[in-house]
Amino acid sequence: MRYHTIIVGLGAMGSAAAWQLARAGHAVLGLERFGPAHAQGSSHGHSRIIRQAYMEGTQYVPLILRAYELWHELAAETPGEDLLTITGGVTIGAPDSAMIAGVTRSALAYGLEHEALDAAEVRRRFPPLQLPDGHLALYEPRAGVLRPEACIRAHLHGATRAGATLQFHETVTHWHADDDGVTVVSDRGSYRAERLIIAPGAWAPQLLADLQIPFRVERQILFWFDPIGGSAAFAPDRFPIYIWEVDEQTAFYGFPAQAGPPGGVKIAFHTGGTPCDPDHIRRDVADDEVEAMRAAVRQRIPAIDGPLLASATCMYTRTPDDHFVIGLHPRHPNVVVASPCSGHGFKFSSVIGEIAAQLACTGQANLPIAFFAPSRVALA
Ligand SMILES: Cc1cc2nc3c(=O)[nH]c(=O)nc-3n(C[C@H](O)[C@H](O)[C@H](O)COP(=O)(O)OP(=O)(O)OC[C@H]3O[C@@H](n4cnc5c(N)ncnc54)[C@H](O)[C@@H]3O)c2cc1C
Repeated sequence: MRYHTIIVGLGAMGSAAAWQLARAGHAVLGLERFGPAHAQGSSHGHSRIIRQAYMEGTQYVPLILRAYELWHELAAETPGEDLLTITGGVTIGAPDSAMIAGVTRSALAYGLEHEALDAAEVRRRFPPLQLPDGHLALYEPRAGVLRPEACIRAHLHGATRAGATLQFHETVTHWHADDDGVTVVSDRGSYRAERLIIAPGAWAPQLLADLQIPFRVERQILFWFDPIGGSAAFAPDRFPIYIWEVDEQTAFYGFPAQAGPPGGVKIAFHTGGTPCDPDHIRRDVADDEVEAMRAAVRQRIPAIDGPLLASATCMYTRTPDDHFVIGLHPRHPNVVVASPCSGHGFKFSSVIGEIAAQLACTGQANLPIAFFAPSRVALA
């Protein structure tokens, strides 16, 4: 059988691409080394932030607006599944911080609903957030929480329903592209297709080695704490997602309380990840790592300094400029690169799946993606 498109990696990006291509009627083969919505890559841990006033660059805003539409479409096709909860969100920092400047720039450029709040107003609206005087926050009402495992499962089910062939526990060892199509070789077989989408997350340094992009795969830690005084003040109908820039080197983020295990509230550093190999990442979390997280929040969100309920490790795949790598392979127009997202890509996975599918079908995307071209960071 010759497929229209083979997708390597069925995590956030690959599962979304599979849904898009399969529902457009194309013959899709998806190959995934682990099981569906697993906890070995970059898309586990029960929650991901989604937001619109994009501090990382205004060029992301058209993509995120389309991503919201697709998340709502997916949710409508997946009744009974909790995929997206709008909670509102605050980005916190000093008035001259890079994050405050970035969110303000995007909000103004695209007329996104937002409010600038001083420290006293944040403390009044969201009492757990004890901003020091002089800090401020930009509040955006459309921010919220995606459930990554449920989103991936919804994309996979949608793809399967539309006729995609999805194979799990099968590792791709190499691929080859020529003028007539692509060959993908796994530990179980060899397959041919017209097009290939490579979406391997933290395994990008292996499967995209020919591009010689200096990826940095980082170990990051997620923590769930049982708040002092209980979770009520963190309920999603009264408490937002937040991102807090402490200084130029340090930022952390967190979520409202979520139903289901492990309970409590989740918090993590966005900065300070340590380089790792995805096949040998250290999964246990040391006491001093827990203490570093506590030290960062103790003055700022004192209620979080309660008992540790759980921790987990996850991986960022960072590019040299921390922007995404999405586009056609510079030397193979039938190969799409659609995954390295520098630790902020989940919210976009619905639209990246659509873009990857468009690139596989026509070589072009409907949204502006030149900024994400692999050639800008590829050394070969
Ligand atoms: C701790 C943490 C917190 C984050 N927080 C946020 C957030 O709040 N908001 C946000 O938008 N983003 C966030 N991100 C980033 C976001 O989660 C990632 O950018 C995104 O999930 C990555 O999706 P992916 O498809 O590239 O990778 P994955 O979902 O990991 O998928 C890649 C898949 O490829 C498979 N694969 C790899 N190699 C092979 C092979 N050889 N053969 C077969 N299959 C293979 C892997 O098993 C995996 O399933 C966070 C990331 C982490 C780690």
